[in-house]
Amino acid sequence: MRILVVEDEKDLASIMKQGLEEEGYVVDVAHDGEEGLYMAENFPIDAVILDIMLPILDGLTVLARMRKKGIMTPVILLTARDALIDKIKGLDTGADDYLTKPFVFQELLARVRSLLRRKGEVKQAVIQIGDLKINTASHEVSRNGKSVSLSAREYALLEFLAYKKDNVVSRSEIVEHIYHEDSDMDSNVVDVYVNYLRNKIDKGYDKKLIHTVRGAGYMLKKEE
Ligand code: CA
Repeated sequence: MRILVVEDEKDLASIMKQGLEEEGYVVDVAHDGEEGLYMAENFPIDAVILDIMLPILDGLTVLARMRKKGIMTPVILLTARDALIDKIKGLDTGADDYLTKPFVFQELLARVRSLLRRKGEVKQAVIQIGDLKINTASHEVSRNGKSVSLSAREYALLEFLAYKKDNVVSRSEIVEHIYHEDSDMDSNVVDVYVNYLRNKIDKGYDKKLIHTVRGAGYMLKKEE
């Protein structure tokens, strides 16, 4: 999943980027509202962490312009302590959640996960597909009760497929949401990662969960 962080305090922005990347997210950072708005409009972003106090355009203006253009990407606003008016305005402008600074990073992560689940119309922290269980809070994966150990990147790919379960996901979507576009990922590399995942998820089971859809991409689906 790809997260946009719009934050002008560069130290805080880079701490958030690093922490989110350690969780397997792809992270874009903007340091002012104008750049943030541009990225929110043009990049395939899954969730935005948006500071309110920003140079050029403030966060509430960025949010209002996004919503006016029909961009409904989930947004978490970062507000200053006790800025009740900002919280009210933010929620009325179309923010999905807010967090008061200073915050504990684990709470930000929990809120990001919650937003992504809502976006994926997944109600619970554990996504179940057949006998595969993916705990999106702890990142624990099991199949048929047996724990499956995945690298951060494999997990990110599995989670992305799981949020879109029963739907075909194209290779280019995977590259855009799971890998940095500045890394030298081409879509063949996606096939390589899908094979790693198959070896860990499907190998040894009669019922396969990861399906190749010829000419279209991949789909995570319980075989009937
Ligand atoms: Ca700020």
